[in-house]
Amino acid sequence: MKVAFIGLGHMGAPMSRNILAAGHDLVVHDLRRDAAAGLIADGAAWAGSPREAGAGREAVVTMLPGPLAVEQALLGPGGLLAGMPPGSVWIDMSTSTPAVADRIRAQASPRGIAVLDAPVSGMAAGARDGTLQIFAGGDAATFTAVRPLLAAMGDPERILHVGPHGAGYTVKLMINLLWFAHLTATAEVLTIGTRAGVDLATLRRCLLASPAASHFIDRDVLSVLERGDYDEGFALALACKDLGLAVDLARLAGVPVPVSAAVEQIYRQARARYGDTGGEMLPVKLLEDLTGTPLRLLAETRLPAETRLPDAPAALGPSVPADLTAPPSPSNQPSLSAPQE
Ligand code: NAD
Repeated sequence: MKVAFIGLGHMGAPMSRNILAAGHDLVVHDLRRDAAAGLIADGAAWAGSPREAGAGREAVVTMLPGPLAVEQALLGPGGLLAGMPPGSVWIDMSTSTPAVADRIRAQASPRGIAVLDAPVSGMAAGARDGTLQIFAGGDAATFTAVRPLLAAMGDPERILHVGPHGAGYTVKLMINLLWFAHLTATAEVLTIGTRAGVDLATLRRCLLASPAASHFIDRDVLSVLERGDYDEGFALALACKDLGLAVDLARLAGVPVPVSAAVEQIYRQARARYGDTGGEMLPVKLLEDLTGTPLRLLAETRLPAETRLPDAPAALGPSVPADLTAPPSPSNQPSLSAPQE
């Protein structure tokens, strides 16, 4: 397939590499030409503008920071739409909004250009390994036509058509909103509990054995608790963008969201304190710093690898005590929502 890819950052560069590896003919573009150097060495062609990138292509993928960049790259005389031929497909894999894509689609449809929103979860590691989860919104026929291209970037079992135009963006924003809410709530629970005198490992073990268990407590929080790693692979600036878009969507949908609004404010505080490029888990550190309570598991409280449950991930900490009745652990079930992002 003749493909173009625009936006060669943390996610877009490895996704493009997988498109090339799958044998597609690839043209790439980014505001930063140096971002394309490795891909050009591997066989991709360079385009000097989005318009040039779209010329003669059957499908064009965008993986841009957010709605503003998407609109800038698509519209206007040097924009992608001006270059794409009738019968081609624009696939936006950015975490963006239905409203912006609607505006662009209003200009694309009369030119015979199909549109699909297909944002992803799975972090830069998933982009590198070609195991992203993909949530597509748009016509079923368009989805089917580009599925083989999506399969070059994602796990075929987790490439889902989730509804009409905009549904992919909505699903993605809701996944991120809930994950950020898990993070902020878990940070508060672990901090209160340990300051009130309960050992951190014991508290976590009891939470995992209770109806309050979550995938976040089971797996994702361990990068902080075990390594003090706040995940710089996904920047606070992007997390704040996603939370802002989710709260905007709630406003459009007429839904009061006091919890989501509070989560967004906490993230904005973390961004103000630690900067745009700080990791997405830094709201945990915000509370650690405010209360002087570092949340770290001691090495001796972790379960040795050879005694872990067979299906437990390598990073999993203490197992749930056998004498406690636990609900099925989220880690033991196939899950659509990967660790953030
Ligand atoms: P990034 O900032 O690393 O990369 C964005 C790239 O887009 C940069 O190379 C930038 O130069 C380029 N760019 C910006 N505006 C442009 C324009 N107008 N024209 C051409 N190029 C332009 O961002 P990322 O981490 O790769 O994220 C990209 C998208 O994927 C975002 O919407 C993000 O929310 C989403 N996402 C990120 C992750 C993650 O773990 N990083 C995971 C899932 C989804």
